[in-house]
Amino acid sequence: MENRQEFWPDGIQGAVSLTFDDGHETHIQNAIPTLDRHGLKGTFYINPGRGANWESLLPEWKKASVDGHEMGNHTCDHPCSCNFRFHDDYCLEKLSLDDIADTIDRATTAMDEAFPEQKGNRSYCYPCYQSHVGSGSNRQSYVPVVAQRFKVGRGGGERANNPDLIDLSYVWSWAVEDVSGQKLIDYVEKAVEQGQWAIICMHGIGGGHLAISTEALAEACDHLARHRDRIWTDTAIGVTDYIIDRRSELRIQAP
Ligand SMILES: [Zn+2]
Repeated sequence: MENRQEFWPDGIQGAVSLTFDDGHETHIQNAIPTLDRHGLKGTFYINPGRGANWESLLPEWKKASVDGHEMGNHTCDHPCSCNFRFHDDYCLEKLSLDDIADTIDRATTAMDEAFPEQKGNRSYCYPCYQSHVGSGSNRQSYVPVVAQRFKVGRGGGERANNPDLIDLSYVWSWAVEDVSGQKLIDYVEKAVEQGQWAIICMHGIGGGHLAISTEALAEACDHLARHRDRIWTDTAIGVTDYIIDRRSELRIQAP
């Protein structure tokens, strides 16, 4: 496929997904109101049961889901490499594929109950962008565990996604910290110029860890809203559903 813009619906040059990790309270305070004001939908990767404020935030997540934002599965326990020293025993090099399946499936059970309107159609997000268990000659990819359960898993990576080439079980995202709205716009424009799917990974918005300012997000949202006739902004699962159908229509088999 020479011109990937032909992959998208008429007039659309490329797609964008705005994703927010870790169920941070600034997503409710700052990100969702900004998206709503611009008529845009985001994907929020949450960890059911994790953190002191899980119970108090849950009604807000439920409202966001009913309003059409995607609640994505980020596991219950957020396992990352032991090298982070988040937990001495519960970390990827010490876990098995069964351990990963367990923390993913418990999150799915909780989310099916909390967000019935999703009907189980949601994306996965790899904690810390990592997709392995074990180490050295015993290291294994857990991407197959995700592929058996989800249409799409969001990881990290250097580039935007080519819709005909990317492995949907591990799509790439640009993890931002302290960037301007103009930088976000530049990244999106470069991606859609090539007919790609740009996924932005954000953490704190206007506060919290790895934060960008609410003003930067608002500037990017303003651009996306004004150019919605040529840039398609949707949830990770929304864009994925389109990609799967379009690949089948065009008889594209991704490698
Ligand atoms: Zn995370």
